[in-house]
Amino acid sequence: MTRHFKGSDLVIASHNAGKLREIAALLQPFGISVKSAADFGLQEPEETEDDFAGNARIKAHFAAKGSGLPALSDDSGIEVKALDGAPGVYTADWAETPAGRDFPMAMEKVWRLLEDKNAPEPRRARFCCTLCLAWPDGHDEVFAGTVQGRIVWPMRGDRGFGFDPVFLPDGETETFGEMDPNKKHAMSHRADAFDKLVKACFA
Ligand code: IMP
Repeated sequence: MTRHFKGSDLVIASHNAGKLREIAALLQPFGISVKSAADFGLQEPEETEDDFAGNARIKAHFAAKGSGLPALSDDSGIEVKALDGAPGVYTADWAETPAGRDFPMAMEKVWRLLEDKNAPEPRRARFCCTLCLAWPDGHDEVFAGTVQGRIVWPMRGDRGFGFDPVFLPDGETETFGEMDPNKKHAMSHRADAFDKLVKACFA
């Protein structure tokens, strides 16, 4: 049976500033006191699974056990159709450099791979997000969301984070990097997963 969230404190099991900002904005209407994994001095666990749900579970359970509070994690990424779904669950890894994450470099890599294989326009892509709400006793609830669109080049906009500047959602003229954040929050993969979480656990 689905477990409802009853408490008043929730840990967001992420160290990613962009995700923290978006999840805190999505939780704001529920009057929940939100803390981050960093507030508890928790490190980031290794993401050893090969799908979004597996990695979301690792992060949420790690933060719930480490904090003693329910924890909400987000595992997400972008799947590009002409690249057989890459970078997908490895989206953040594609941005890794010895000096930290470099997303312009990762976006350019995606674009170059598409160019190299002469991928026809529109270059279909989707953002995926899996949210996991885990409790310290080991129970969890998992919800997945997507948003469909295409890869555009060059990058457009400096709002948002990660791959936002090259993602044009279907039916829109602005990339997620150009769009008002409130509009992105209403239509994103994270919003889609969040709607399902709210209906199941917060309603
Ligand atoms: P992970 O979930 O920590 O493995 O990282 C997912 C990566 O996917 C992020 O670092 C971003 O690059 C990308 N990503 C996920 N959601 C979004 C989004 O809403 N906008 C832009 N990039 C995203």
